[in-house]
Amino acid sequence: MALPVVTLVPAAAQMSDPTITTPWLVDAQLDPASCVPEEGTGAYETLKAYGAKPLRQQRIPREYFKMDAVERDARIWALRRELGDRLVVLGHHYQRDEVIQFADFRGDSYKLSQLAAAQREAEFVLFCGVHFMAESADILTSDRQKIILPNLEAGCSMADMAKGDDVEAAWRAIGQAGVDLKTVIPVTYMNSTAELKAFCGRNGGIVCTSSNASRVYDWAFERGEKIMFFPDEHLGRNTGVTKGIPEDRMVVWDPFKPMGGLTVEQIRDATVILWKGYCSVHARFSVEQIETARAEHPSVNVIVHPECRLEVVQAADSAGSTEFIIDTITAAPAGTVWAVGTEINLVNRLNAELPDKEIFCLDPVVCPCSTMYRVHPSYILWTLEHLVEGEVVNQIMVAPAQAREALVALDRMLAVP
Ligand code: SF4
Repeated sequence: MALPVVTLVPAAAQMSDPTITTPWLVDAQLDPASCVPEEGTGAYETLKAYGAKPLRQQRIPREYFKMDAVERDARIWALRRELGDRLVVLGHHYQRDEVIQFADFRGDSYKLSQLAAAQREAEFVLFCGVHFMAESADILTSDRQKIILPNLEAGCSMADMAKGDDVEAAWRAIGQAGVDLKTVIPVTYMNSTAELKAFCGRNGGIVCTSSNASRVYDWAFERGEKIMFFPDEHLGRNTGVTKGIPEDRMVVWDPFKPMGGLTVEQIRDATVILWKGYCSVHARFSVEQIETARAEHPSVNVIVHPECRLEVVQAADSAGSTEFIIDTITAAPAGTVWAVGTEINLVNRLNAELPDKEIFCLDPVVCPCSTMYRVHPSYILWTLEHLVEGEVVNQIMVAPAQAREALVALDRMLAVP
């Protein structure tokens, strides 16, 4: 895997330099500090492997930060026209409107992967999402196509909670606890690095999404007795509960504790071993917020993402993937009221696009996905200007051997009925 050489300066230095304005860093939405811990998140680890320091924003020339928004957008549209069919822009639902306006297609991580794979003609796919999504797009597209992530710092704090070495160590420890590893099926959520998808590919495992997790559990239990699920503890548990697995048969592996913080008996008796990871956005939603919404809006329908904690999912009226949330609210009768437990940019967009319904976010503090938020129109302009000049910057490439193993796990998922 070869990433371009990038020169970076600390975000703190950018912020203290009055000649540099970084509007998205000082946007009121990014307060409070509880959104996402910055250290150790995002694409830091990947960047570190290539000698870059762990910083919050990839550095691009100052003029991009200072540019008038109208002029900047006009230049992006002009470059898009110049590149024509050579370029496809994909936008994740959690991207801000200033970014999503440029997307040819919108979707959640799974839908965007499928869309990326379907773009046989496009030479370049500009992926306005986060790092693991661009990796999956690279795995699923042809070698001829180039996947570009506008800001290399746009990672996913959840994906970063399960490191390849830690998962390998846990796998070995489970074997040493006396469990026959042939009976354990590793399942990784789509929101994980290519390294973990490859781990699943070579160990008889599979990838799942929030849409098909239940069917993937069926697939796994047809082939084994136990599931090791990572990196999202909550999606793993919520899915297990829907399959009737008792909560005490689902244990949590903490990678910071010896033997994951579990006894040998707990490991042997478990039906599902969940990785201790979570989404910083969805873990914020609470039962108290649902109670408040019901008190203030007696006719409210509460719909949440399955990355929320179990008690939140159980207190809601329905739970499902981002696409499920969009489809459900879109199909609902006019005049209905919806309290939504997912990322704020999507909730605000639904509210704007479906004015016949009342739609609001469950979390009054409003926490965006701050790693998604690192994609900004200035980065889009910077990458497109390079493309037009014949230089590909910020290309995401998965090493061929790893891509082959990851594709095995992805193909197993795609074959699940
Ligand atoms: S919303 Fe959560 S899972 Fe999705 S990219 Fe952001 S941190 Fe990762």
